[in-house]
Amino acid sequence: MPTFLFDDVVFGPVQSRRLGTSLGINLISPTAKICNFDCIYCECGWTDKGNTPIKFVEKSDTLRKLEDKLKATANKLQFIDYITFAGNGEPTLHPQFEKIIVEVSALRNKWMPKAKIAVLSNATTLKKESVLRALEEVDERILKLDAGTEQTFQLLNKPLGRMSLSKIYDDLKSGLFNGDFKIQSMFLKGTVNGKSVDNTLDSELKEWTEKLIEIKPKEVMLYSIDRDTPVDTLERVSKLDLKRIAYTLDGLGISSTISV
Ligand code: SF4
Repeated sequence: MPTFLFDDVVFGPVQSRRLGTSLGINLISPTAKICNFDCIYCECGWTDKGNTPIKFVEKSDTLRKLEDKLKATANKLQFIDYITFAGNGEPTLHPQFEKIIVEVSALRNKWMPKAKIAVLSNATTLKKESVLRALEEVDERILKLDAGTEQTFQLLNKPLGRMSLSKIYDDLKSGLFNGDFKIQSMFLKGTVNGKSVDNTLDSELKEWTEKLIEIKPKEVMLYSIDRDTPVDTLERVSKLDLKRIAYTLDGLGISSTISV
């Protein structure tokens, strides 16, 4: 199915399902997605596996375009809830991620001081000191955990290289950010390469919730497919299914929100 790449460094403001009025920052070139996952549901399509040279957006370009947009938005007396790092892949892979966060914070303070800065990340780079320092600086850290079992993690998120769910889980439960982060979890059903995938099954949810009890996030954001996906045999799950998951979390004392 057709997917899309963001064609600019700064996009929006858009009405985000999860973050209100959000100005997006894409640190990755418009020609290819850069990520160390290859999620079967990624709205940016499949991860490029070396066919296109890796190209991140220059820091100076990001800052210039962001300042122009913030200035124009402030001059129109409009308000932005979030400046959100998302876009064509995993933002924390940018080699200057920490410096960019520091300078984006300064621009936010100058032009839109009430806006919060959010980073959507797949949580694979939490061992890197510079990434941790950068994430400490932002207002909202939203970290991915779609699966409770290694098998489903490999099927859903298709990590590149030797990455395991258990390593990511170890980082997430290690007390980072004093628990001040959210988990985002995508739920879906369907098949991929003839194999069934359904992370709403009771057996999957049991393992996933057991991990969340140990991770202790301040909130879990539940969502499902909203746009085209690279695998066309996937289905979004119903709002009722997401509510059922939220109800289970509530019983365990874990707050959650549903985006549909
Ligand atoms: S982690 Fe995010 S950007 Fe990377 S493949 Fe998955 S959905 Fe796409």
